[in-house]
Amino acid sequence: MKMGILRRVRQRTAPAASHARPSGEPLPAPQQEEQETVVPAHPLNNYVLVILDSCRYDTLMAAAPRTLQALGTIERRWSYASWTAPSHYNLLMGLLPHASPRHVYASEYYKQDFLRYNERLGTQEIEFKSLVPHLYLPTFLKRKLGYRTHALVSLPVLNPATVLNRDFDTFTLMPKHNDMAAMLERMVFSPDYPSFYLLNVGETHYPYALPDEPEDQWPRIHGVHGVFKHLDEMVVGGKLRTEEGGTKFFDQEKLDLLRARQIEVVRYLDRVFERLFDLLPPRTYVTVTADHGELFGEEGYFGHGPVHHDKVYEVPFVEGKLR
Ligand SMILES: [Zn+2]
Repeated sequence: MKMGILRRVRQRTAPAASHARPSGEPLPAPQQEEQETVVPAHPLNNYVLVILDSCRYDTLMAAAPRTLQALGTIERRWSYASWTAPSHYNLLMGLLPHASPRHVYASEYYKQDFLRYNERLGTQEIEFKSLVPHLYLPTFLKRKLGYRTHALVSLPVLNPATVLNRDFDTFTLMPKHNDMAAMLERMVFSPDYPSFYLLNVGETHYPYALPDEPEDQWPRIHGVHGVFKHLDEMVVGGKLRTEEGGTKFFDQEKLDLLRARQIEVVRYLDRVFERLFDLLPPRTYVTVTADHGELFGEEGYFGHGPVHHDKVYEVPFVEGKLR
């Protein structure tokens, strides 16, 4: 008879404290439970969710990333939100960027979308109601499936003091906002338990700088750069105005240059993905997407956040299991 994976995993991750004597000296675990610990009936996949902050769909396609294309077909999808914090909350609810299907009730779409977690995690028992009542993926992964949960984030608006840091075993704001390669050194996988990693990658965020580019060579946009120094994303973006207060394009040549820089960092990141994929153990499922897009002068907009435009919602989406 098939034993439910949730029940089996719960046994597998029962707290060791129940076998401790008052003195703290551990008792040997009963033979039956020892077997459960060593041989899980249905090992779960590790799950790595990579968010390329601000990466436009057409930016990613223009970069033609060979490594990412090996993961699966790169889709054009739509973010639920136009800036980092609400978008990550949504992603961590388990709702990845949507395909904007017509003639479908939202509730039906959510239901179908959550069934995809069975493939991602290597189970058959996940549905939308599995996440009730917390509606938070890290809580579900950690408390119901026995995952170790980790976040490595680049943008300070996602720092560990925010409400997003719930049911993560570790939650780290990286020292630099633009160094995905440094994240790889912090990733640890164990054959004894499944791992979940959220990587919020910042190279694709303004000013689209590679980790080794000196800060004094970053491009400067009047009224934006000083703001970025404080990394307060809420005010990065919006409609650019000329000095006179008009709404003409700010400086399209400069914005074209910025867009070219975002394409260039995706080309660089594709090589970092190659290193990431090399270090991932077997049975690891990877999803790569963006939290929102970016405007490079279309209809007078730059950046993201207080922007209502198709390009701020249009994001790339690719996922698959490598081996
Ligand atoms: Zn963002």
